[in-house]
Amino acid sequence: MTFTGDFTYESRPGRVVFRPGAAVSATPAEAEHLGLRRLLVVCGRRGEAVARAVADALGDSCAGLHAEARMHVPLEDADRAVAAARTAGADGVVAVGGGSSIGLGKAIALRTGLPLIAVPSTYSGSEMTPVWGLTEAGVKRTGRDPKVQPRSVVYDPELTVSLPVPLTVTSGVNALAHAVEALYAPDTSPLIALMAEEGVRAITEALPALAARPDDLDARGRALYGAWLCGACLGSTTMGLHHKLCHVLGGTFGLPHAETHTVVLPHALAYNTPAVPGASAALSRALDAENPSQALWDLAGRLGAPRSLAELGLKETDVAEAARQVAGQPYANPRPVTTEGVRAVLQAAFEGRRP
Ligand code: NAD
Repeated sequence: MTFTGDFTYESRPGRVVFRPGAAVSATPAEAEHLGLRRLLVVCGRRGEAVARAVADALGDSCAGLHAEARMHVPLEDADRAVAAARTAGADGVVAVGGGSSIGLGKAIALRTGLPLIAVPSTYSGSEMTPVWGLTEAGVKRTGRDPKVQPRSVVYDPELTVSLPVPLTVTSGVNALAHAVEALYAPDTSPLIALMAEEGVRAITEALPALAARPDDLDARGRALYGAWLCGACLGSTTMGLHHKLCHVLGGTFGLPHAETHTVVLPHALAYNTPAVPGASAALSRALDAENPSQALWDLAGRLGAPRSLAELGLKETDVAEAARQVAGQPYANPRPVTTEGVRAVLQAAFEGRRP
């Protein structure tokens, strides 16, 4: 990018409150700030205890707790959640949990227009985006709608202390993937580049500390700050080959979300590297490494993350079909996407070789 300047940047509305303990101590004030008096709290089964604490803190402003969030928001789950919001007479929604819980909150917001408050407990970054997803008959659709962007985001590092180390690492790399692709997105801009570089730095500093001591609150805060920046990058730019690969591997082949991002990212980045010298230089600075794709592969492996799609359950015979699906859809990518090129990326990821 030169500084004769050629970009459009739209700053997205939304408040952020960030402090340890904020889930319980700040959510009621955020509801009040938005003028909301009857909130439906949504979460997944595993996150129910924390969500109940948030619901209790809301007191009379809580209209109910709906603990049915699952990965990729199946359409029937969205239907049930919308019905629960209507039955409760809710005037707003609080989503407590990872990308799946926030996804369910977004599904309610999409259908009803109710304002959403997000209290994230992973590093997925969904809370900073207007992107929704719904899965019907095994096919995941996604779209953008400003209605689903949370009006207020409550970041509470204490909430993430319980995140197991393997999920901490893979969820962190999921966040890195947003920043990496934002750096070479067609709609990137100097502000996005700043956020992306700082996001990568924050997450990659925090992850080794968290693998050693998962209850290190300072590192938890640093990782969540990184996830915020990386999520904001995702919300403001158009993602490329890496996200398309993960979408197909998750949607069509049922591979787990954060783990798939972790395995694929070094290979997708290696494919794009020759076409993106500016993004590579930014990543080299942030990772303090000459070869960013190798540095990402080394980091994830050192922290015990899975390295191959084979480990995640993909069959070698699926590689060709996945490559066909990814190459068959037009989308923005800095390097032309060919079936052969995608196949090589997928084969390397399938085997788990160093890029
Ligand atoms: P997730 O929300 O499915 O959570 C993964 C697991 O971790 C769940 O079992 C959950 O109960 C558990 N968990 C979450 N937080 C925890 C905590 N603090 N302590 C202990 N356990 C915890 O996974 P995710 O990776 O956060 O989100 C993945 C989903 O989000 C996918 O469906 C993906 O498509 C979507 N997503 C959407 C966007 C967007 O912008 N729309 C962005 C990123 C991800």
